[in-house]
Amino acid sequence: MKEHKQIKDWGLGLTGPTIIAGPCSAETPEQIEQICIEMKENNVIPSMFRAGIWKPRTRPGSFEGIGEEGLKWMEIVRHHLNIPITVEVGNAAHAEIALRNNVDVVWVGARTTVNPFAVQEIADALKGTDIPVMVKNPMNPDLDLWIGALERFHAVGLTKLAAIHRGFSDSYDKRFRNKPNWSMPMHLKRVWTGMEVINDPSHIVGKRDGILEISQKAMNFGLDGLMIETHHDPDKAWSDAKQQVTPARLKEILDAIDFKKPIE
Ligand code: PEP
Ligand code: MN
Repeated sequence: MKEHKQIKDWGLGLTGPTIIAGPCSAETPEQIEQICIEMKENNVIPSMFRAGIWKPRTRPGSFEGIGEEGLKWMEIVRHHLNIPITVEVGNAAHAEIALRNNVDVVWVGARTTVNPFAVQEIADALKGTDIPVMVKNPMNPDLDLWIGALERFHAVGLTKLAAIHRGFSDSYDKRFRNKPNWSMPMHLKRVWTGMEVINDPSHIVGKRDGILEISQKAMNFGLDGLMIETHHDPDKAWSDAKQQVTPARLKEILDAIDFKKPIE
């Protein structure tokens, strides 16, 4: 399979399992600052800070993201935590704005990975840079669509690539917001040798309980890191309120995980 750079070789100084944390959505500068302060107070500094700036909502009428203004607030994160910033891009315009605002890493969301035209437009907008790109699995369990999106970035010369496993939409299984279908990330790792897969337990479980269990399972399966939505006041979050955890809970979760446990 095609060569690509491991996360540790992205030039961001990252080592060990990649822990990405931060709110589902950037809401206000005060919110971003409070999350950073509580991360510091609880001694839980993630490898990267995530924040949704443009939110692809399933139905219209809910909060659709603060937009470019929110990217200016990422300076608050750099000031307090001095860690790389990652945001979701859903089209070429988002990609251009993210580049202009010195975002360190972009990710493509599950609703975008299903659309090869959108993925290609984002890849074309990022062409000529060496920004790392993380690709979430498509909403539906289609391995080729997931790999195809990674290939589109690879084909324009972007080699700092990783995948994010956020589960698959299934209206019949109510245990999970998105069914994990663990064979999918495992297959991806087999088909594209060395492709690192970050597990996103927040969007799989859809509620706070169970995030530790899914995170541990991901580590047992040999996945390479975690993306956990973190908010200082989750119940009041403007999106995904049920699944976000506080920085204090994030610390407990990370302390409880055995990162070296072999597959059972
Ligand atoms: C998110 O990360 O907040 C998000 C919208 O994720 P997904 O694309 O996995 O639904
Ligand atoms: Mn979310």
